[in-house]
Amino acid sequence: MHLAKASALDALLAGLGDIPHETTAAAVAAKSRDFFWYSPILKEQLAGCVGDVVVAPRSEADVLAVARLCAAHRVPLTARGGGTGNYGQAVPLQGGVVLDLTGLAAIGPVVDGTIRVGAGAKLKDIDLRARPAGWELRMFPSTYRTATIGGFIAGGSGGVGSIAHGVLNERGALAGARVVTLEAEPRVVELRGYETNRVQHAYGTNGIITELELPLAPAQPWVEVAVAFADFMQLARFAQTVARTDGIAKKLVTAVAWPIPRSFGTLKAALPDGCALGLFMIASATLLPFDELVAAFGGDVVYRATDAEVAASGAVPIFEYAWNHTTLQVLKREKDVTYLQSAFPSLELVDEMNRRFGDEVVQHLEFIRTGGEPVIRALQVVRYTTAERLNEIIRAHEERGCAVFNPHTYVIEDGGRKVTDAAQLAFKRITDPFGLLNPGKMRGWTP
Ligand SMILES: Cc1cc2nc3c(=O)[nH]c(=O)nc-3n(C[C@H](O)[C@H](O)[C@H](O)COP(=O)(O)OP(=O)(O)OC[C@H]3O[C@@H](n4cnc5c(N)ncnc54)[C@H](O)[C@@H]3O)c2cc1C
Repeated sequence: MHLAKASALDALLAGLGDIPHETTAAAVAAKSRDFFWYSPILKEQLAGCVGDVVVAPRSEADVLAVARLCAAHRVPLTARGGGTGNYGQAVPLQGGVVLDLTGLAAIGPVVDGTIRVGAGAKLKDIDLRARPAGWELRMFPSTYRTATIGGFIAGGSGGVGSIAHGVLNERGALAGARVVTLEAEPRVVELRGYETNRVQHAYGTNGIITELELPLAPAQPWVEVAVAFADFMQLARFAQTVARTDGIAKKLVTAVAWPIPRSFGTLKAALPDGCALGLFMIASATLLPFDELVAAFGGDVVYRATDAEVAASGAVPIFEYAWNHTTLQVLKREKDVTYLQSAFPSLELVDEMNRRFGDEVVQHLEFIRTGGEPVIRALQVVRYTTAERLNEIIRAHEERGCAVFNPHTYVIEDGGRKVTDAAQLAFKRITDPFGLLNPGKMRGWTP
């Protein structure tokens, strides 16, 4: 380690007092990783990136104290929740402090359909706390069981529930946030309403979120349904119709092409070889119109369970075959695959890309609602050969009008936004004047 860096770190460690921290190499290495290894490109680029110390604050006061030390000694700080991000979001590129926020896990009562929670609270714990009061999370990633709300806001985009409630960067997704700055004298900034978008998907580069206020949705009993189709495009048309039918209340509308479902553990047992599979979460009160559509499109229901039955049996929830769990299920079985994240303007283009790439790019569609419209997102499973070929595939999609949110980069702008978010950058200029927060992730920031 560079001498100046070593003495800065020593000074920081001496100042931590009784704030829990860990410097053993194995512990620090374990908390310096996320799920970047989905990408063969990031796997190579981020292999040696580790922090110097993991600090685990117990309170917002601890976070302020750590921020003050980092500012004083110019030590980088990378926030971390559950470490389930996909693009090396929580991987420290320049060492320093990895701030493990899972200790800030307080969950308040539901008040007027909103809930205040510590940034380190797990999504599942928040949801389970809200339900007895008649409310539930509006949306969550398929990493519901392990991810934190702070990590979801700072690193995620949407997920289960987005077909009803839109995505995280839309107005109304979040009611408020408390954010600690990394100024010489750190302070807490309170963001209200759409101001919270300044820290959404900013990878913790412009503040450390300590608390969030979330609007909830009225809780409903959900039924998980898997529907098989001989033909993938027929499934895709069915799924799009479900997505567009407002009379069907739903939380998940997923369509995957064969051979993806052969990696689907227990679900696979019910599925004939060669079939495409639709995964749905439907409010039990609206199963009738859903079943009518299944019959009209010629689908075959191969699995159905209420959420109460799933909880009682300990079965894998259906959403753990959807979103980015789809890729994970395939990766458990095959090593030479990776994925893309795309926005298709039409099912015709899905069909065209299907025909063009065949088994090299296998379709996985997620229907969501954004800007008030049901739209087609995709997390295609890609058979990986070389970085050049992957880029060729990305270009081919973009040339035909399919936007690709590249998951093979750790730089925010390159991942999908394409340009620096001006409001996020302006906020960073105030909150992180020394450029110490998760450095290297926001290209637009210059000292
Ligand atoms: C199998 C799988 C499925 C997934 N499915 C989805 C999905 O459906 N939808 C989706 O959006 N994402 C998905 N993801 C990505 C990821 O799981 C989610 O975004 C998740 O919410 C991240 O939460 P986390 O606590 O693990 O965050 P981490 O990975 O720990 O952190 C994510 C980012 O947020 C920053 N951060 C964390 N906490 C804070 C804080 N308190 N203040 C400031 N910055 C902070 C980190 O520095 C990092 O940049 C998936 C990933 C995997 C591996």
